[in-house]
Amino acid sequence: MFQSTRDRIALISVDGDPAIEIGQEEAGGQNVYVRQVGEALGKLGWQVDMFTRRSNPAQAAIVQHSSNCRTIRLKAGPVEFIGRDNLFDYLPEFVTQFQQFQQREGFRYSLIHTNYWLSSWVGMELKKLQPLIQVHTYHSLGAVKYRSVGDVPVIAAQRLAVEQACLETVDRVIATSPQERKHLRILVSRKGQIEMIPCGTDIGHFGGISRSVAREKLGIAPDAKMVLYVGRFDRRKGIETLVRAVAESSLRGKANLQLVIGGGSRPGQSDGIERDRIANIVNQLGLQDCTTFPGRLDDTTLPLYYAAADVCVIPSHYEPFGLVAIEAMASEIPVVASNVGGLQFTVVREVTGLLAPPKHEVAFADAIDRILTNPSWRDRLGAAGRQRVEIAFSWNTVASHLTNLYTHLLAQAKTKTEKQPQIAA
Ligand code: UDP
Repeated sequence: MFQSTRDRIALISVDGDPAIEIGQEEAGGQNVYVRQVGEALGKLGWQVDMFTRRSNPAQAAIVQHSSNCRTIRLKAGPVEFIGRDNLFDYLPEFVTQFQQFQQREGFRYSLIHTNYWLSSWVGMELKKLQPLIQVHTYHSLGAVKYRSVGDVPVIAAQRLAVEQACLETVDRVIATSPQERKHLRILVSRKGQIEMIPCGTDIGHFGGISRSVAREKLGIAPDAKMVLYVGRFDRRKGIETLVRAVAESSLRGKANLQLVIGGGSRPGQSDGIERDRIANIVNQLGLQDCTTFPGRLDDTTLPLYYAAADVCVIPSHYEPFGLVAIEAMASEIPVVASNVGGLQFTVVREVTGLLAPPKHEVAFADAIDRILTNPSWRDRLGAAGRQRVEIAFSWNTVASHLTNLYTHLLAQAKTKTEKQPQIAA
């Protein structure tokens, strides 16, 4: 349903630039979410401005994506890449820049949707300065993440405090899965209002390509048993578990087993270091002849890799939602995932894929083998995955849920203002 011009709203994603290339430099699900939600809301008639931090002097200050949707890059700190854990000190500058932008435009947003804890802080500061509705999506919860990683950063205490303040004070928090809602309630606070609206995927972009055509285009043998990973190189992603699982597979040496690990990395940076660590494990386990690292998969090649695969594996230690799961399902391939977070919601055990305990390479090997040795079951799991995504996870569905929420909150705020007693002049 298209409605004539609705309010002008701001999506704020300080650390996740919606206009950047995805798949490296910390750019992943959050960037995709903001961009796709922004564009889908634009199609529904909202005027969407997506604010992020400028991290490279070559980047345009404003990128127009469609007539109703643009990315606006504000200066906050040095114009260079800075990891998330080191951005907090630059947030006051972001707030000032945001206000100056509004002044220049002669306009004040009445609703902002913030993304990740850093932007939630920006939103809460802005709320002190002007009347504003704030909706927030966490994308990742420190309270859960720090339980699954060994190296807790210096910023951890600050992050946990901001995450709690956010849940307790903003107008609405979006949980993207029932598991996230539960974590918020148990680990963050019992106060605050939560609404469950899942992430989505582009159901027209993924799927509809046959395995044989995709393999021909990518130069992958028709008889290969192809195991695919897609995502960033980050320890939390558990790629090591997948490599060890492939080494354990009962098909090793008996079938043309191929492991494809897709995702970008920068030499010497955190993702480059993790990629090198994974490549070393591949070599130690003697898997170098059956493993490929195609690098960052762009919009054109990504649907082909999914279509070519027999199974997509998501071995994360923690995954608040996990867009890759629904992209693989939209591409009609089964998913073997860790039994954590949003993956417990998206992947239906024995129906669209299988779940295994995180870091458990033997359980992952068993699950992968079950699928690779039974092609007709593989296809049934794939078809059920596609069906599930069509019903529950398209961006248009997400945008229309968000539209209902924004409209409700804006109307509520308007009623409140009207009810306020007028002071006689
Ligand atoms: N991605 C991509 N190319 C790559 C690697 C990843 O486009 O080479 C995309 C992937 O398709 C997905 C996103 O990056 O849309 C990763 O999102 P997810 O929620 O799975 O993980 P996150 O990065 O948020 O931890």
